[in-house]
Amino acid sequence: MTNDMTTNLTSERSEAYIALGANLGRREETLREALRMLNEHSEIDVLRASDVYETDPVGYEDQPPFLNMAAAVATSLAPHKLLEAMQDIENRLGRVRDIRFGPRTADLDLLWMDGLTIATEALTLPHPRMHERFFVLVPLEDVVPENEPSGLRMLVEDSLIQLGEASGILRFSSPLFP
Ligand code: AMP
Repeated sequence: MTNDMTTNLTSERSEAYIALGANLGRREETLREALRMLNEHSEIDVLRASDVYETDPVGYEDQPPFLNMAAAVATSLAPHKLLEAMQDIENRLGRVRDIRFGPRTADLDLLWMDGLTIATEALTLPHPRMHERFFVLVPLEDVVPENEPSGLRMLVEDSLIQLGEASGILRFSSPLFP
């Protein structure tokens, strides 16, 4: 009985990949705090964290540079519930949401979840712009294992080849977590 329950619980967990960014205030502290909040959630475990990268703003360019990183998490939450938990963390960290692509205390994007495809107003998976952005792909490559079962490794590698030589991104520090 106990064994069956353990098996069921384990099989219901997904592996999800999250991009984190911050470009206002104490950026490193914000990222560390976001990771801590993710891991504190009873249904989210942070498995791996990437190096931290400093990146030039893309889109709206008149703003300070970002710190970006990626994390792999295990979760028993459904995709929309995971996104809600991430948005709650953004709000608790005091995100400023005035300008699209503009400055933000903390930005958490859900990139990938077991290869699921979702197209709703609140959530699109895979994240529709992840393959265009060095600031997502470079950190993501740090945390996606070669044998990731749903094809994310190949997507990341192919996208980086398509984009060519990386620009506007520099390694800033080693992983903040664990
Ligand atoms: P942004 O301000 O660019 O971070 O976009 C946030 C908005 O995008 C929110 O309204 C989310 O509901 C929506 N959204 C759709 N798909 C995703 C995703 N995969 N990750 C994060 N936000 C998403």
